[in-house]
Amino acid sequence: MVDFDYYNTLLVQHIGDKVGATAPTITPSASYGYRDANEAEAIFAGRENLPLYARVGNPTNAKLESVVSLVEGGVGAIATSSGMGALSMVLTAYLKAGDEILCIGGFFGGTYSLVDETLRRFGITNSFCDVDDFAHLESRLQAGIKMVLMESVGNPSLRLPDLQKIANLCATYQTLLVVDNTATPLLVQPLQLGADIVIHSSTKNMSGHSAALGGIAVFRKYTPGDKLQNKKYHDIHPLLEKLGEKALMGIAKKRALRDMGMSANAFGSFLTLLGLETLALRMPRVNENLTQIVTQLHASIGHKIVIHHPSLKTDKHHDRYVQHFAQGCGPIFTIDCHTKARAYALLNQLKRVTLTANIGDNRTLALHMDSTIFREFSPEAKRFLGVNEGLIRVSVGLESPEHIVQDFLQAASYL
Ligand SMILES: *Cc1c(COP(=O)(O)O)cnc(C)c1O
Repeated sequence: MVDFDYYNTLLVQHIGDKVGATAPTITPSASYGYRDANEAEAIFAGRENLPLYARVGNPTNAKLESVVSLVEGGVGAIATSSGMGALSMVLTAYLKAGDEILCIGGFFGGTYSLVDETLRRFGITNSFCDVDDFAHLESRLQAGIKMVLMESVGNPSLRLPDLQKIANLCATYQTLLVVDNTATPLLVQPLQLGADIVIHSSTKNMSGHSAALGGIAVFRKYTPGDKLQNKKYHDIHPLLEKLGEKALMGIAKKRALRDMGMSANAFGSFLTLLGLETLALRMPRVNENLTQIVTQLHASIGHKIVIHHPSLKTDKHHDRYVQHFAQGCGPIFTIDCHTKARAYALLNQLKRVTLTANIGDNRTLALHMDSTIFREFSPEAKRFLGVNEGLIRVSVGLESPEHIVQDFLQAASYL
């Protein structure tokens, strides 16, 4: 169980300073003067931990990185310009033409096209499988793939993975496991379960306020006998000894951030830190709201529209929800209105809920999936991702749940 009180103390104590400026300091400088030539050499050699140039690190980003690393239990983190920036950084740092990646479960639209269009153009192939398709997972692991990529909760499919079992298989076959934990900060701790790298779009629940686009990748410690010593990772072996226990992070910095520049900016990181202070207060509230809204809508208008969420006993993954996600699986539930016309009729009558392509906001949001994020996807891809023509995704915020229920009930009265 997550001890939210523990994280309340940890977050406010680490983000605020007791002496001097209490709020995080914004350092909007692209470059940093070095004391002398010797210090410059030491900084470039990585012996001295001082800012080198803002593309590869900035004091405000460093503050955000240290707090998120602590929350995820990593050895270090890299803040990026967006969630897609964090994913691009990790995927391009560890993969090259000829490699194969296995994608488990449904993906955020941007991640799907990054893997299936952009990476393919650079010769990196992929296959997709359902969270419960262990036969496929094991056959690709046996074939020697380089990386498994998954989200902690399928969006918008809401299929829940058995992360521990997947991590164990990746350990057996010495294969990198990268988990996008955007929807479930604090609720799921992928590094504790055996993942190697955790990614967040901090734009979402981590900030809550929607004022800053941002991403972050958190890395586990490199240890003797590490899976990265497997010969399939031979191209990064020269870096491992040199970089030591922070090798996983160093590889991302050297092979992607430095050369491609998906770097975070100081002001964005400052705004993210302000939101992050209240993350442990907001996550349980989001879950209480979601459970109440889903239960009430299912009971009162479930005969008109289908409410999907694993907290409902009718859901295929309800047992897994109770066992592994007892404190929630993030802000999303979905509504199947059966047709596009009915979905639009419902959305267009909502008074309080905001229509936008975002999740994890302090406000409750909704969007028709098929006509927006997934509009260019093939019918097979949409089926795999759980998107049909009547599907609405809802992301629950901090409002009174009663007010959100009322909004959906009055809108549904027009159906
Ligand atoms: C939004 C999102 C992303 C992309 O993040 P941006 O900050 O919008 O680039 C990646 N993964 C998931 C699960 C997301 O919800």
